[in-house]
Amino acid sequence: MTPHPASNNGSTLLPCETDVLIVGAGITGIYQLYRALEAGFSAQLVEAGEGVGGTWYWNRYPGARFDSESYTYAYLFSKELFEDWEWKEHFAEQPEIERYLNHVVDRFDLRRYLRLGARVTSAVYNDPDRSWTVTAGDGTVVQTQFLIASTGVLSVPHFPDVSGRENFRGEQYHTGLWPATPVDFAGKRVAVIGTGSSGVQLIPAIAGQVASLTVYQRTANWCTPLNNGPITSDQQARLRADFETLRHTLSTSSHGFLHRPHDRATFDDPVEQRRAFYQEMWSSPGFSKLTSNYTDLLFDEAANTEWCDFIADKVRSIVKDPDTAERLIPKDHHFGEHRPPFVTGYYEVYNQPNVSLVDLKQTPIERMTETAVETTEGRRDFDIVVWATGFDFGTGALMRMGIRGRAGLALDQYWAEGPRTFLGLQTAGFPNLFFPGGPHAAAGNNPRYNSDQVDFIMETLRYVRDHGYQAIEVDPAAEERWTNMVDRGATRAPSFGESSYYFGTNIPGKPRKYLLNSGGRPKLFKEIGRVVENDYKAFRLSRSGPSAALRPSRPASTENRRLQAAGGAAQ
Ligand code: NAP
Repeated sequence: MTPHPASNNGSTLLPCETDVLIVGAGITGIYQLYRALEAGFSAQLVEAGEGVGGTWYWNRYPGARFDSESYTYAYLFSKELFEDWEWKEHFAEQPEIERYLNHVVDRFDLRRYLRLGARVTSAVYNDPDRSWTVTAGDGTVVQTQFLIASTGVLSVPHFPDVSGRENFRGEQYHTGLWPATPVDFAGKRVAVIGTGSSGVQLIPAIAGQVASLTVYQRTANWCTPLNNGPITSDQQARLRADFETLRHTLSTSSHGFLHRPHDRATFDDPVEQRRAFYQEMWSSPGFSKLTSNYTDLLFDEAANTEWCDFIADKVRSIVKDPDTAERLIPKDHHFGEHRPPFVTGYYEVYNQPNVSLVDLKQTPIERMTETAVETTEGRRDFDIVVWATGFDFGTGALMRMGIRGRAGLALDQYWAEGPRTFLGLQTAGFPNLFFPGGPHAAAGNNPRYNSDQVDFIMETLRYVRDHGYQAIEVDPAAEERWTNMVDRGATRAPSFGESSYYFGTNIPGKPRKYLLNSGGRPKLFKEIGRVVENDYKAFRLSRSGPSAALRPSRPASTENRRLQAAGGAAQ
């Protein structure tokens, strides 16, 4: 691959093939590449897909779109980029998002640093060289000083273990692995299994084309309207004029949204005012139902129940068949307990004569045959089955990359009981490895959190280079502090359960550990500030050569004995 002209210019880094290797050409990886090159590091990027976009490359199912506002999800690092891309809709659809990301790659001349169609199969740390050897399935082998895995949290599709799935002779698709060639649904008998955010976007997008659509729902979700629309030319002009304010608000807001938090708790208002407010929420865009709702929504069961009752009444008023309406209303969790989906015309679809709903809690799937899905209710024949059954969230991609750190320590072993991270971007025993946008990283509008992490990584790499170090690894005590913070913060309000992929509960056998950043951005900012103020004492820094650590580490905690045993005191 072409090295960057600035490769190792005047730096103290090792003579690797590249200073920085990034894995994943999603929103975070592209930004990481841009920043690394801008800082004068040589950089390359490998990506499993044949195109750029990451999540927005693979999830090209009909109806896939942002549910954060386009201009809040997109890059903010360049005013010129912001000005030369006009989003068509407040919540852009996948083709526009993919075009945008390709535009960014070309506009900043990044394509020559990409190797597409290269899925990483192993990444091995070389100690005392302080470098990584990364191998991909297409035969690519790269030696890099720093390895930055921007592999995303929703990138490993989950297929349930349904007996006979491989025998089905019709077409099968997963929403997270959608083919580039459009799927022809016209006149077909279609099953959609799963009603999370992906399923409920897909269902209304295809319901008008198919001969019949059977939706297999295991858990009903609290779906509320996305309230999308085109961005008018006045709004475009205002967005441009307000760019700096918008950037400032988004860079400082606690969850990376523009929506203003509310200042009142539910029962501060009398009942009529609450009904009016809920109606206002129902008509508001996307995530504002969560971020601008009453302040006690996620903490007070009675408050949450009242909002849920409002939504349930809406469902009953839209869906004509009362039995179907009842099955579409969640009975086992509160609003916000699972990631809420935002929809366009979803409930309305169930009034179409060609659409039916199967409740898998009442009649579970027993098997698939060559032509059918069989539940305890009976069999239904299909031409197409779509799995909208989600992902191995948070850790899925990192655990499958064959990552081995100091003394051969395998990441999937080190994280066998759940991820252990510092700031959601480094883990002890794996020097020079960063994973922005990974587990413990975000809990809101992902690109905003992830760009905070990328910016911090770049500050850190500059520090390493400018101080003549060659390796950086989080101190186990700092890792323990952050991981404990995540676990403590995940403790839910009474009556809020843990039945969500946020805790890994959708994957059989996965440890039940919280996978988001429960401290949100304020905690991330605070901790980053502390690291910089304390001159990177949360990290061990070293030079190459045997036992050349300049910073003695603190004694390892009990939890990190396993790491020490595996890795020894290599530094
Ligand atoms: P998901 O939220 O995990 O939903 C998966 C669905 O499949 C659930 O309804 C689940 O039921 C069902 N399911 C899983 N295993 C099953 C089984 N063995 N039998 C029957 N049903 C099964 O996955 P997703 O819809 O792909 O969404 C994942 C995340 O991607 C979202 O939460 C969101 O963060 C992101 N996303 C974002 C957008 C966007 O607009 N920006 C769009 C789509 C997705 P249970 O609930 O019972 O497990």
